[in-house]
Amino acid sequence: MNQESLFEEEITLFADVILPVPVPRLFTYRVPREMSADLVRGCRVVVQFGKNRVLTALVERIHDTPPTHYTAKYILELLDQQPLVTSFQIALFKWMAEYYMCAVGEVFNVALPSGLKITNQSKIQFNPDFDYPELLTQEESFLMEEVKRHGMLTYEELGRLAERKNVTSLIKSLISKRAIIIFEEIKEKYQPKTIAKIRLASPYQETEKLEELVKSIEKNTKQLDIIFRYLSYQPVFNNPELNLKGVEKSIFTQSDSLSASALATLIRKGIFEQFEAKVSRIADAPPTEALQSVELSPGQQKASEQIHELFKEKSVVLLHGITGSGKTEVFIDLISKALRSDVQVLYLLPEIALTTQIVSRLQKVFGNKMGIYHSKFSDNERVEVWKGLVEGKFQFVIGVRSAIFLPFDNLGLIIVDEEHESSYKQYDPAPRYHARDVAVMLGFMHKAKVLLGSATPSLESYYNARSGQYGLVTMTERYGAATLPDFVLIDMKQEKKKGNVKEEFSTILLDSIKKNIQNGEQSILFQNRRGYAPWLQCEDCDWISACQNCDVTLTYHMREAELRCHYCGHREAVPRTCPHCGSARVRTMGYGTEKIESQLEILVPEVRVQRMDLDTTRSKNAYSTIIRNFEENNVDVLVGTQMVTKGLDFDNVSMVGVFDVDRLINFPEFRATERAFQLMTQVSGRAGRRAKTKGKVLIQTSNPGQEILQWIIAGDYNAMYQTEIAERAGFGYPPFTRLIKLTVKHEDLDTALQAAKILAAGLTEQLGKTRVLGPEAPLVNRVRNRFLLDILIKLEREKVNFRAVKSLIQERVNEILADKTRKHLQIVIDVDPA
Ligand code: ADP
Ligand code: ZN
Ligand code: ZN
Repeated sequence: MNQESLFEEEITLFADVILPVPVPRLFTYRVPREMSADLVRGCRVVVQFGKNRVLTALVERIHDTPPTHYTAKYILELLDQQPLVTSFQIALFKWMAEYYMCAVGEVFNVALPSGLKITNQSKIQFNPDFDYPELLTQEESFLMEEVKRHGMLTYEELGRLAERKNVTSLIKSLISKRAIIIFEEIKEKYQPKTIAKIRLASPYQETEKLEELVKSIEKNTKQLDIIFRYLSYQPVFNNPELNLKGVEKSIFTQSDSLSASALATLIRKGIFEQFEAKVSRIADAPPTEALQSVELSPGQQKASEQIHELFKEKSVVLLHGITGSGKTEVFIDLISKALRSDVQVLYLLPEIALTTQIVSRLQKVFGNKMGIYHSKFSDNERVEVWKGLVEGKFQFVIGVRSAIFLPFDNLGLIIVDEEHESSYKQYDPAPRYHARDVAVMLGFMHKAKVLLGSATPSLESYYNARSGQYGLVTMTERYGAATLPDFVLIDMKQEKKKGNVKEEFSTILLDSIKKNIQNGEQSILFQNRRGYAPWLQCEDCDWISACQNCDVTLTYHMREAELRCHYCGHREAVPRTCPHCGSARVRTMGYGTEKIESQLEILVPEVRVQRMDLDTTRSKNAYSTIIRNFEENNVDVLVGTQMVTKGLDFDNVSMVGVFDVDRLINFPEFRATERAFQLMTQVSGRAGRRAKTKGKVLIQTSNPGQEILQWIIAGDYNAMYQTEIAERAGFGYPPFTRLIKLTVKHEDLDTALQAAKILAAGLTEQLGKTRVLGPEAPLVNRVRNRFLLDILIKLEREKVNFRAVKSLIQERVNEILADKTRKHLQIVIDVDPA
């Protein structure tokens, strides 16, 4: 061994790691010698953080410079043999932290499925050096014996064994007597799913041995029955080359008629053995030979070719195709082409409600090449998609916004379906990102093409397309012979005067529902509010049901017989009489989906109605069950919130009814017109998607003269765009400016106000009056007992150095937060608030 290599071995390595904490920096740890060969960037490690926290960290850089201000602790454990996080992801995390003004650790924390994080659990173990059993009480000795018998136990397990709910005091006493030791077990949360199987034990996998065996137990028919049954699963038993080991058949699951005791005997004799087999949690795709292909219509073919051409010069293309034009088929065509050239594809969808139908459509084409990633997936399922991508099992993933965090290393195409959807924006926790915008960045990093699709593009994307930054492709006709629906505006004021309104329904709407039922056709009713009624009110003293923690009313939920706050989750019982004056005249005010549903059941007794909103879709399979039920015509009317407006594709829906459109239009928010247009156009688009019947959209309004209704009826996106874009330019809103919203939160209004004023004044001084608005109380100005104040910063696209302004804002925010006289003050930074 020469001098040099000796020297090399002496070098101590350090790793800079990303920790899942909201501190905007990396942390340096020492690499234990035995890890130094395997530790690489992108691996997860376990480290101690602070005094007693153990965290999952991500290795960002390995070097040999010790930190200057502190002594680096050793890395405790290395979790991966190969990187689990790609360089692309690390670059994306950093970009997001910078762009959305948060810590890279916060991005990492949200990006990594919690199944890939570690948990530490306190476990109890017998102290082998303990030799004073006489010190223990009878109860303690009993507990000790249990611990000895089981080796290691959690508190809960011990409690269960001892048949006591709370064993803490006994444990404490055992610890103080040094009879047991507590230690922390660190393990990954993800656990592969296993099922118990049995197989022939290895000695009997040789044919001769097996024959001997069969002869030897000739008299016992039950055991032989099991053996023969097992063997019958192996079609070529007589083939001498057959390796029985590979054949794993579960007899347990099919053993109803088999004798369990005979099986137990066979296992005891060592003829069969039990083992655990790992299985995937992700449902199987259809078999490859059954995969379908699609034939594009001439319009779709043209669109696909145009997109292909535009991608030669633009990295982003917007596909603006009306509802029912068959954008999905165009996507499928482009995905197929991308997959053939061996790149990865990411298909983003805004919500799980949409995935149900599209997933099954895409699975028919792409089978098990496609991974699915959605919000109702369990931690373990998410991990399996993540690992499936790392291991190359999936080449294509369809998923909701968090799918942008998956470990791609070779993306060629990203599709953002329904790109205008606001649910692409994450509000809490940080990073407060917009998945469409991140997708554009992700595409840039991978040199991948990004396709945005919508029937009602966001103003931002359409502006980018019109200005030539993005390519633009338009589809103006529905697929097949289907056409856009007819509209009927129902003037609710007039109808009421004429006595043509029952509860919340106009007679016109009711008649149309009944007619549809008679014709065996279906209807969708849209009301963008869940619950029965948004509040209760006393007719005598005007008392209103309000949340004790927030500045909002409590919604009445009839089925659960509860008042609920939709902001903080607070619940209370429904008062029988007015809590203020005792009057019995307490009424429900306004209406939500639940009221529509129950009124309809009374007004049209023969109706089969189903509700789809947050309250009816909490369980994992609720969406697909509702959608399947509707698809199979077991339901006449689907009532729902915005969940029913998007992407859904039903053959038999010929009518869509819309309630309370005025509330949508008049929402006090600069995007209200755009949003109302999108929502209305989308919900209308659910009607008449097949040529069979022309669809009809009935809109109940108290102001039928509103211009926006005319745009919606005419399907005139352009009119909406032109009017809105002029407004945005005039008032300095996106896409002409970028917005950053700062929300100051404190339980005391004065403290919040004072801090917000100082912050706004400081920012105004540096950025100028026109760029800083507020502080102003938002629509809901108290949530979870904290008062909120917003400061809105508007930055002109061309004139402002975004990065410099951001660091200036961050400095100001830090200054305010550093003032310790204001305890618990919080400032939330939201870049590009939606
Ligand atoms: P969009 O997403 O543009 O609203 P979809 O992609 O859902 O429209 O298509 C509308 C309907 O027309 C769907 O049921 C789809 O299966 C059908 N469709 C569209 N294109 C084709 C095609 N090329 N071949 C067969 N069916 C098609
Ligand atoms: Zn009252
Ligand atoms: Zn509340």
